[in-house]
Amino acid sequence: MAVAAPVEIEPLLEQVVKPAQYLAGEHNARNKDWGAAAARLALCFPDAYEIGMSNLAMSVLYELVNDQTPHLCDRAFTPLPDMADALRARGMPLWGWESRRPLREFDVVGFSMSYESGNTNVLEMLDLAGIPLESSARGDDDPLVLAGGSAVSNPEPMADFFDLIAVGEGEEVLPRLLDMFAQVDRSQPGWRTDFIAACARRLPGMYAPMFYRPRYGADGAFLGHERLRDDLPARIQRQYVDIDQFSGPRRPVVPSTGVVHDRVAVELDRGCARACRFCQAGYLYRPVRHRRKALVEQAVADCMTATGQSEVSLLSLNAVDYQGLDGLIGDVYDASEAYVRVSIPSTRVETFNVEVADALQRGGKRGGSLTFAPEAATARMRKVINKEITDEALLETCGMAFARGFRTIKLYFMIGQPTETLADAEAIAHLANRVMAVGRRHHGNRAKVNVTVSTFIPKPFTPFQWHPQDRADTIEAKQRACFRIVRDRNIHLMWHDPAESRVEALLALGDRRVGRAIKGAWERGCRFDGWTEHFDPARWRGAIEAAGLDVDAYIHRQRDPDEPLPWDLVDIFVSKRLLQREYARALAVEA
Ligand code: SF4
Repeated sequence: MAVAAPVEIEPLLEQVVKPAQYLAGEHNARNKDWGAAAARLALCFPDAYEIGMSNLAMSVLYELVNDQTPHLCDRAFTPLPDMADALRARGMPLWGWESRRPLREFDVVGFSMSYESGNTNVLEMLDLAGIPLESSARGDDDPLVLAGGSAVSNPEPMADFFDLIAVGEGEEVLPRLLDMFAQVDRSQPGWRTDFIAACARRLPGMYAPMFYRPRYGADGAFLGHERLRDDLPARIQRQYVDIDQFSGPRRPVVPSTGVVHDRVAVELDRGCARACRFCQAGYLYRPVRHRRKALVEQAVADCMTATGQSEVSLLSLNAVDYQGLDGLIGDVYDASEAYVRVSIPSTRVETFNVEVADALQRGGKRGGSLTFAPEAATARMRKVINKEITDEALLETCGMAFARGFRTIKLYFMIGQPTETLADAEAIAHLANRVMAVGRRHHGNRAKVNVTVSTFIPKPFTPFQWHPQDRADTIEAKQRACFRIVRDRNIHLMWHDPAESRVEALLALGDRRVGRAIKGAWERGCRFDGWTEHFDPARWRGAIEAAGLDVDAYIHRQRDPDEPLPWDLVDIFVSKRLLQREYARALAVEA
């Protein structure tokens, strides 16, 4: 393949908003020698720079490949619509941020998929790069297109667009794939298909959709997959790594513009043992692996030194289950400059304690915020979802946080979970009022309660995967009821648009036919579907209709426990029997 000249984006910069995001050259950006690299990977995030640069997986893999392998890793993000228009108007291709090489010239174009709303952005990036959208349309001169991440744990909706999908964690398998690529003889016609098959055979967790054909009944029901090659595994086993063996980023790139999480992120652990029944992450990231305290402290020290950042977030699905969290936070402060601030993501209520609150508050400004995720507001619903805390415990914890100087409490809830009634949903608003009353006792008018209420999406690999999603009118009725009950102007209620949740459910629960709707939505102009200002329900409706999909059958139907599921070919090491038992337990909770 002829090597194209680097893409000259400078003439476009005055036509676009936030031009600095396209310039690269940030502090700690790597720019390895293109010619000396054994294999060249374009690590792509299907969303804007400001979001992708806050993504830990991007940072982990970028550093790992560049610093510990002979391969090169560049980055690419979805250009905002003005930049995409400018590129198309000039016939210019999407490029790798550091090398400025067209994406087409890379050996492997790999997408890190954290959420399904990035799906149309994958197609946008491939199209801007001049890479055929479907795997079946690519030839020997095209790069290999790879994906990984929790949004492709059910790989089927995007299966037509990827040559390979890595199921599970990528730290071990990605370097191995690049090693294999560096050895392949690309002068042989047909090398591409052979290479994809070799990866699927030799690399654990690597799924090559082209070799698994979905089967459907006359009534359209999904019947299972037919494996087209006997030498490939019947099921794809999710991969997980020893996180003490992988240090995570030590010298992360410092973004050149504002990003959504402008701080250093250090992973405390992976997995969560709590088994809340709606929570896909809780099932997908098993087993629970806590990183050794000394390694966490070293990672924090290295990252702070390398970036000059003043805040570190200790990432975890459930930070308060990390043994000795308060001591760890105290040690980080002891070892740091006075201006450093430590934060943790949302936490469970019952294990949050005075020690952790005090430790966090030590470096914080007075008046910071804490986030709790009770998810449901009645004792019955908490039993259903297996997240059992009491209102009293929540109020006490919030009171303790307010008393220690935190002025804002953020609460996460979810409506539409199995067996939920209108009264269960209304309880969210009543509980918010009670938390606010506690806050006002401590801080008067300066107390705030921010309540985010998402809509339940039945997620694959959870006990609720068989359960129908509430219809939009039911969700809206519950939302309206809550709005009527919340009276205090310092309570800020945020909802998810039911139309967005409906598309999200289709993308989560879909089979391979859903790919037609994704492509149709992109052709109609859908991009950045996770951004409320860009999400266009009418375009999605048109695409779903044109694809001939019966959305009710995908998301509003009670699935039979014995029916084949599109994601059955992925083995996450949690048996269906266990999930069914948990689902039955949830439904058996008395009203
Ligand atoms: S919701 Fe939180 S506590 Fe529950 S399983 Fe998921 S990560 Fe763990």
